Amino acid sequence: MIYAALASGSKGNCHAFSDGRRTLLVDVGISLKQIRLRMQQVGLDPGEVRAVALSHEHIDHIRAVPVLLRQTDWSFLVTAGTLAAVTAIHGVEIPPSRLIPLRSGHAADWDGVRVLPFQVPHDAEDPVAFRIEWGGFHAAVVTDLGYPDQLVANHCAGLDLLALEANHDVQMLREGSYPPALKKRILSRVGHLSNESMSDLLSQVLGPRLRNVILAHLSEQNNDPELARGLAAAVLAGSAADLHVARQDQPVLVTVPESEYDLPATS
Ligand SMILES: [Zn+2]
Ligand SMILES: [Zn+2]
Repeated sequence: MIYAALASGSKGNCHAFSDGRRTLLVDVGISLKQIRLRMQQVGLDPGEVRAVALSHEHIDHIRAVPVLLRQTDWSFLVTAGTLAAVTAIHGVEIPPSRLIPLRSGHAADWDGVRVLPFQVPHDAEDPVAFRIEWGGFHAAVVTDLGYPDQLVANHCAGLDLLALEANHDVQMLREGSYPPALKKRILSRVGHLSNESMSDLLSQVLGPRLRNVILAHLSEQNNDPELARGLAAAVLAGSAADLHVARQDQPVLVTVPESEYDLPATS
């Protein structure tokens, strides 16, 4: 399996999963041109994209939807609340023929891949994170959440790969230049995940199968990648997991050989 963080951060998010024949994207917060360019940069064929799963309607996750509707035949996996919000924001309809409706807490089958959206605490209509089970490969993309509740931890058990938000360092945010209202929003229970909360969640869900952790949605102003990396590395010390940090400006590729995840499902 191949995972790529094509872009991650407040200016746009897009993750790709591919088995070499077909590709599923999670969020499309960068332009179609950038999606194609960055896929090619990491050796993925943009022609293999079949579908896009949308986590919520914030623009850094849905920017490309209108262009994708016009210029591709990709399907959209989306909850009802997010669908209504995307429709209102962009003034476009996703036709039923291209829609795979999701309900949080209920797994959908996408072409043999199990896509399980689960609710996260975030200030959007119907925000979800995704657990994706592709053959024996179990992964999750968990960003845009105020705090790691038990539901989130439960859905992150027994993973091979976890892309997890490490949005901010609380002290940098508090002392930084953001307006007070924005600081309050980010720090709230429906805001974004701090480095400290990331590290708490990671220590809860670290299991013997976990081989790759990707820190995602880092704030360019309120975080330092080395700070986030240090906290995560302390949790992962002694484990088999490799640590990566997703970037806003360029793709980060993780290749996971079948020998690493095709283990008996013990968890
Ligand atoms: Zn976001
Ligand atoms: Zn958001």
